[in-house]
Amino acid sequence: MGYTNRMETREIHCSACGRDAIVRAEPVYEDFRKVGEAFVCTACGHRYADRESTPFKAAPKRPSLFTDEPEARPSIFSGEDRHHCCLYCKNYVLSAFDQRCGITNRTTEATGCCLRFVSKEESDGETGK
Ligand SMILES: [Zn+2]
Repeated sequence: MGYTNRMETREIHCSACGRDAIVRAEPVYEDFRKVGEAFVCTACGHRYADRESTPFKAAPKRPSLFTDEPEARPSIFSGEDRHHCCLYCKNYVLSAFDQRCGITNRTTEATGCCLRFVSKEESDGETGK
């Protein structure tokens, strides 16, 4: 918190002098362009040519923004929509050949939605009213 990468100190276990030491980053220039960074052991002055060859003690810990659980995706069958599926409609007719809507007599799908939906369950239970 509050530290920037620029202020970060880097500790290595130096393979040249065998000590735990701080390294100093040195920009590497090629044709006056910065092409990378070299790291110099402050204890013995050994120079590591690039980041990969520098024996850092531990990778700097960064709070990751991407470790959260993936969002629970709403199912297409969640909530109200589930109850408007043709599958649950009183007029949904399933035959050996196709599945049809009893109102329009057209081929439909079990997962289709319909404005003329009539709940199968409700009508079944309350026909004696
Ligand atoms: Zn060293």
